[in-house]
Amino acid sequence: MYTAKAKLAGIIGKPISHSLSPLMQMTIAKELGIDFVYSAFHIEESLEKAIKGAYALGISGLNITIPFKQEVISHLLELSDEAKVIGAVNTLVKIRGGYKGYNTDVYGIKMALEKADINIKQKDIVLLGAGGAAKAVLYVCAKEGVKSISLISRDLEKAEGTCASVKAVFPDINFNFIKLSELEDKKSINKYLPKNNYIAFQASPVGMHPNVDKAIIECRDFYDKCEAGMDLVYNPAKTKFMQYFIDDNKKVINGLDMLIYQGVRAFELWNGIEVGEEIVLKLRQLLMLDK
Ligand code: NAP
Repeated sequence: MYTAKAKLAGIIGKPISHSLSPLMQMTIAKELGIDFVYSAFHIEESLEKAIKGAYALGISGLNITIPFKQEVISHLLELSDEAKVIGAVNTLVKIRGGYKGYNTDVYGIKMALEKADINIKQKDIVLLGAGGAAKAVLYVCAKEGVKSISLISRDLEKAEGTCASVKAVFPDINFNFIKLSELEDKKSINKYLPKNNYIAFQASPVGMHPNVDKAIIECRDFYDKCEAGMDLVYNPAKTKFMQYFIDDNKKVINGLDMLIYQGVRAFELWNGIEVGEEIVLKLRQLLMLDK
């Protein structure tokens, strides 16, 4: 239950009806006994009017999802450091006169890796996919001080664009760009990728429900050289990409903890309160999609 004094928050996107954020945010509020309401808003026309309207209504915080994560930046007063580099925002916090933008996906990825005890410091990274989520992965990797990043994509020009701002801020990291179609067999995998023990991030929608029988790379030699992996997809809970690691007894995680911790961080920013691990555990149980 909430009262007329409740803190107001929500998520803006198009489409938005599939979003798990209302369930997640209202669960956190209920567990902590906070007077809080969180709604989903499908924005058809003007994002600018929506942001101004939200401010006028006294909405304290917003999550921003596809397709507005970049466009929203031009309607904000301030940006956090990570949002400036990534060029995408998923959380707004009300400040005097408007909103400040954050990218809490960064926190989500960092915490997911930490909880799984996957260490990326000084490691070679292989990143599959070069879209918005890949940018947050790039930032986390650069900030943690990885040795190299090999970015694999269908479109090399787009991949270079995705990396540009992170590359400019972290010039010491060695970047390689590889076309996905080049990685067909053992020979090409040995030629283009680091020798051994790289950490692989899967940041494309390949393997997502309902296309669960696909992995972005099907050649086993790719996985033989991996030390550990993270698939940003969380539905299904065990993707085909992950299965290659599981078959080899290697560490691998899906994107569920990333999803949970980005939401937890947003809740903390809006409410100035720490969300404990017991609530994270509850969220994991609640959101595990194919229990
Ligand atoms: P996006 O901006 O649309 O980027 C998707 C990337 O995947 C692009 O580089 C795209 O390449 C590539 N791709 C798409 N289909 C492909 C295919 N069939 N083969 C090879 N590459 C393909 O999407 P995004 O926002 O980065 O999200 C990517 C995925 O991450 C989502 O599907 C979602 O499952 C996951 N995600 C998870 C979380 C979380 O909290 N766990 C958060 C955000 C995203 P082209 O540019 O060549 O099309």
